[in-house]
Amino acid sequence: MQSTLKIAVQKSGRLYDGSMKLLKECGIEISNGNNQLRVIAANFPVEVFFLRDDDIPEYVQDAVADIGFVGENVVRESNKQTDTIEQLGFGKCRLSIAVPKSGIFQSIHDLNGKKIATSYPTILSGFLRENNITASIHEISGSVEIAPRIGLADAICDLVSSGSTLFTNELKEIETILFSEAVLISNKGLSAEKKTILDSLLFRIRSVKKARNNKYVLLNAPNDKLETICNLLPGMRSPTILPLAEPGWSSVHSVIHEADFWNVIEQLKANGAQGILIIPIEKIII
Ligand code: ATP
Ligand code: MG
Repeated sequence: MQSTLKIAVQKSGRLYDGSMKLLKECGIEISNGNNQLRVIAANFPVEVFFLRDDDIPEYVQDAVADIGFVGENVVRESNKQTDTIEQLGFGKCRLSIAVPKSGIFQSIHDLNGKKIATSYPTILSGFLRENNITASIHEISGSVEIAPRIGLADAICDLVSSGSTLFTNELKEIETILFSEAVLISNKGLSAEKKTILDSLLFRIRSVKKARNNKYVLLNAPNDKLETICNLLPGMRSPTILPLAEPGWSSVHSVIHEADFWNVIEQLKANGAQGILIIPIEKIII
């Protein structure tokens, strides 16, 4: 029988949707309609285990699962022996130290001798040690942001994405300890057969990630501005140029990286490009 790659995914919570969407975009059909804890894919040799995110690093270390999709923050905190193979591009957040807005603390050095509440004692203690700060750590498993208001701690160290929870609780961020996103972790002793399946999955994941970070652009350019416009658009190799039926004009096709997008579009327009269409890309295979 062909072996399957066992993937651990968060059962419910902030990483569930991103993980399922990624598998779907990789063409892997997982139907979890009955809220099962283990589902075998219909068209790819993987099975998915749905677990609490905190348990994923240990299960991957112990080969209960071969790989897992989990927050880098959880991987770092759990300190298990796994390999981090790929950043997955979702579940972005940061682990930060925050203090009451109205208080006297301005920097982490004001926290010497104070008490910090967190669910991340390992990462926090490492950070305090590196920065020569002697604060005590009060470990709590949830609702960390209310700790200062109820007199449980002077500061907190917690995950932040938009910052709205901090704002509502009248806290301000004074230091970021870690930037985190979902990552793919792997067991260290995968068999050759499982490695082959993982390579094939990684090939799909990388194609999906590249496509997400790029847009297809299609525009009409006056021929006398073609060279300038093409220099703005590197494309995968170089842009594709086709003559339009209207004399003096060409149609230009290319790919733009998300990060350069608005800047490039403005320059294209300024150089006479018209009828600019931006189209999402589903996969990029290089
Ligand atoms: P579980 O029940 O599986 O233990 P949980 O309550 O510990 O879930 P979630 O709140 O669902 O965890 O968060 C899962 C992960 O989502 C976090 O570990 C982190 O990597 C990521 N994440 C992204 N943004 C945030 C945020 N603003 N707050 C908390 N986690 C975030
Ligand atoms: Mg958890």
